[in-house]
Amino acid sequence: MIEVVGLRKSFGNLDVLKDINIAARKGEVVGLIGPSGSGKSTLLRSLNLLSVPDAGAVRIGNQTMDFSGGRLRIRDRDLAAFRANTGMVFQNFNLFPHMNVLDNVMTGPVRVLKRPAAEVREEALALLDRVGLRDRADANPENLSGGQKQRVAIARALAMRPEVMLFDEATSALDPALVGEVLAVIRDLAAQGMTMILVTHEMAFARDVADTVIFMQDGYVVEQGSAQQVITDPQDRATQQFLAHFR
Ligand code: ADP
Ligand code: MG
Repeated sequence: MIEVVGLRKSFGNLDVLKDINIAARKGEVVGLIGPSGSGKSTLLRSLNLLSVPDAGAVRIGNQTMDFSGGRLRIRDRDLAAFRANTGMVFQNFNLFPHMNVLDNVMTGPVRVLKRPAAEVREEALALLDRVGLRDRADANPENLSGGQKQRVAIARALAMRPEVMLFDEATSALDPALVGEVLAVIRDLAAQGMTMILVTHEMAFARDVADTVIFMQDGYVVEQGSAQQVITDPQDRATQQFLAHFR
C-alpha cells in the first residue's frame, strides 16, 4: 500500500531525509519513532506532498510520484488526487475555526471531491458517530475539548475516504486525561484494517497497536522491525539509547 524508495529532502543545506526506504502492506500499522528533529514530520509530509521531496519515489496504493528527475513540476490535479488518498492528522488539530463540526467533516468531500452534499452529510454523521461525536455535529470547534477536536480531525480526514491515514503526534498536545479517547479511535481504525503510519511518543501504544516500528535518527531509518521486537529488544545502540528515555 505504501512504498518509499530513496527519498531525500533538504531545506537549504540542511539534509533532513537522507535515503529513506520504507514499505507498508494494506492494513499494516507502522509506528514511526525517533528524537525531535530526526525528520519524522518531514517524512509524513512527504507522503502526502505537503512537502515535496528532492529525490526518490513514493507510491500510495496505485499512484506513484517519482522525484528521481529532481523536483517535479506536478500538475495540480494529480497533486490533489494523490493527496486525497492520504488522510493527515496533526498535533494541533487544524480544524477550520469558522465552521461547525459537521461542516469541518463535510467540506473536503463536497469542495474537493465534488460529491453531493446530501450524501456526504449522511456519511459525515456516520463518521462523527464512529468517533463518538454525533451529538456535537452543530458545535463550534472552540467549544470542544482537545480530545474532541482531535476526534473531529480524524473524522474529517476519514471523510475523504483515504487508503492511508497519517498521524503526526496526534496526542502530544492533549491533556493526559484526554489521550485515551483519541488512542481508542486510532485503535479502532487499526482493528478495521486501515493502513496507518503513527508518529508517536506513546511507546506502549506503538508496541500494542503497531505491527512494525521504524526508528529514525538524523534523517535515516536506523532500525525497523516488528513493533514488539524494536520496542522491547532494540538491536541498534541508538535505538536503545532513545528508548531508555521512556523507561
Ligand atoms: P521531527 O518531526 O522528527 O521532529 P522534522 O521533520 O520536523 O523532525 O524536522 C527535521 C529537521 O528539519 C529539523 O532540523 C527541522 O528544523 C528541519 N525542518 C523541518 N521543516 C523545515 C522547513 N520547512 N524549513 C527548514 N527546516 C525545516
Ligand atoms: Mg515532528
